Amino acid sequence: MLFLQRAPGYLKSTAQFYYFFVTHESKQCKGHPKYPKAEFSLAQGLYAFIAQSILRIYHYMVTVTDHGRTVMSEQKMYQVSTLQALMLGYNNSVITVSELLKHGDTGLGTFEGVDGEMIVVDGICYRATEDGSVVLAEGDKGVPFSTVCSLEGFRTFDIGAFTCAEELKAELTNLIEEHFGINSMHMVRIDGEFSLIDARSEYGYRSMHISLKDVLSKTQKAFKFENIRGTLVCVYFPDYMDGINASGWHIHFISEDRKCGGHVFEISMIRGKVIMDRINSIELKLPDEPVFDTYSLKEASGNEIKQVEQGKS
Ligand SMILES: [Zn+2]
Repeated sequence: MLFLQRAPGYLKSTAQFYYFFVTHESKQCKGHPKYPKAEFSLAQGLYAFIAQSILRIYHYMVTVTDHGRTVMSEQKMYQVSTLQALMLGYNNSVITVSELLKHGDTGLGTFEGVDGEMIVVDGICYRATEDGSVVLAEGDKGVPFSTVCSLEGFRTFDIGAFTCAEELKAELTNLIEEHFGINSMHMVRIDGEFSLIDARSEYGYRSMHISLKDVLSKTQKAFKFENIRGTLVCVYFPDYMDGINASGWHIHFISEDRKCGGHVFEISMIRGKVIMDRINSIELKLPDEPVFDTYSLKEASGNEIKQVEQGKS
């Protein structure tokens, strides 16, 4: 009672309102249903206040529009190590797949020893092997590099045909410029139909201080999927974050039956449904072992990252 007496008026009335609906104890409420004249204990008042607070936080998190641009609350990208470190050959396990999945349900990455391409969708982590077939990633498998978030789906769009990856990336960039801004991070999922996916994956190769480019020259296999339905996971990092991940778009694919996939070089898309979230914070999980500090990370050039990501020499 003391709590309710001291609470601001709107909290008191909303607390009464939620108490009324939460408990369904309407016997005492003969008056206006929105402001029932009921007696509350401190516990009941606190319960109602917490319920109201949760709803207010939820309301705050839900997208609101401001002159056509989307404003939303904090959403976090969880990043394991950096692409620079992976480029320079740091491919030791930083966390396990099980741990990674506590931080997001959608994303991409690779595995210890660059043992295949990672695709995370619907909270499940898949591993594309060197022949393009996909297996479930074991929970204790090590992760040296990954980017995941919990996809809320703040914006959805239908998009049409694109004959190449650059066209699709340009359209996605247009969409984030129109609705958000290019200086944020973005996680995009596209469920669609594709006439062609040109992709790669690789087998594991334990090494230290051997560049990703050199490792992939031994282990990478390219493959093509034709007339296939599936999901693209697209991660966007702004230019100024180049090195933490690839600046621009980094795209992985998994088929609808979850049997094949990989890191995408080229795409020909028939149609797709885009789910897009702007991400405005990042948690960076750096490796704990001292050997990480023996890498001179600034030496990973942007050009080399582009070569590895886009398969161009
Ligand atoms: Zn990749």
